[in-house]
Amino acid sequence: MSRGDKTGLRLYVHVPFCRAKCAYCGFFSQPMDMALLEDFVPALCREIRFHAARHAKAAIETLYFGGGTPSLLPPWALSRIMKELHQGFRFDPGMECTFEANPDSALDGAYLRQLLDYGVNRLSIGVQSLSDETLFLLGRPHDAATARAAYFAARQAGFANIGLDFLWGLPGQRLSQWLATLTAAVRLSPEHLSCYGLTLEPGTPLAARIGSGELVQPPEAEQAEMFVRGGQFLESEGYLHYEISNFARMGYVSRHNSGYWEGRDYLGLGPSAVSTMAGRRWENPRDLARYVALSKKGGFGAGAKALTPDELVREMVMLSLRTTTGLDLAAYRARSGRDFLKDNAGLVQALRQNELVRISSGRLRLTKNGLLVSNVILARLDYGMAAGE
Ligand code: SF4
Repeated sequence: MSRGDKTGLRLYVHVPFCRAKCAYCGFFSQPMDMALLEDFVPALCREIRFHAARHAKAAIETLYFGGGTPSLLPPWALSRIMKELHQGFRFDPGMECTFEANPDSALDGAYLRQLLDYGVNRLSIGVQSLSDETLFLLGRPHDAATARAAYFAARQAGFANIGLDFLWGLPGQRLSQWLATLTAAVRLSPEHLSCYGLTLEPGTPLAARIGSGELVQPPEAEQAEMFVRGGQFLESEGYLHYEISNFARMGYVSRHNSGYWEGRDYLGLGPSAVSTMAGRRWENPRDLARYVALSKKGGFGAGAKALTPDELVREMVMLSLRTTTGLDLAAYRARSGRDFLKDNAGLVQALRQNELVRISSGRLRLTKNGLLVSNVILARLDYGMAAGE
């Protein structure tokens, strides 16, 4: 954000292709098509050059390839993008470089070793479930055996930092199954686990099937148990619960994603990618043809909007309360000129009585039960005269 970062750049690269669209997906992605890929890669390279020219060979602090399915990029595409990034920016030894992969396109040892050679040092594999029936329901292009095989292939190739993504709150899923999934995941011994509650994205086939009553999610109380007991289990296995949906072994917290939650600046490349730099935010077109056209004109960031002081304060609260380090009350005062505890005295007292928040060392943190209802808590906060008024 917005606080004049002195550290290196945080770069996000959006790869907008997938093998097929999953039934619950709300991200901008489309089925892989070689002709479209041949338009996308040069456009992305133009965007890299556009920003590189404005950042004078800046060091990259974190680089994150997301999507979409970055592991669908064929070697020639990967090579062109990486070369362009290496030419435009500095890859320092301490840089964190994450690459998202789907199991079915992360089995080839040569491809995985190529990623390591390019500087990728963190692989994030979208497993989502270890039940073939559930994976089919979700429209995932792989089964559980393939997910395990991708994990072992990544280890074999030399990845020392692997994250696995899972979903809970799925139709037909029971608490016992979720805990069994986590037990199986922990047995693999990944460095990082992301566990997302299923979000119903409007317009997706899964949301329609749940909306019509054809499929039923677990009752709310059972979903709450999945969140709380799943988190307790992972903590008992040595994973630090550092953000609502994220768990890491000591030393393996995602630095890139932590940057978002700490409100740091980031530059997003590729269609639909969002950037926030020096208090200004812009989004690239959510359309490949418009993105390619923009890359030819070179007008990235032209429609950037300045974030208001009020928006900055709200984001600071919203993002920091997602994390288990919580809201720094002095930093809040410095930014807003307000006293958070005074403005929210009644609410904070009620939340403390119900063990939904804790205050210690000048920070307000949501407890596990608090994280579970964070949306409700955030909606009730009073920002008083928080800047902008
Ligand atoms: S792989 Fe990920 S981005 Fe692609 S369709 Fe599935 S959920 Fe969406």
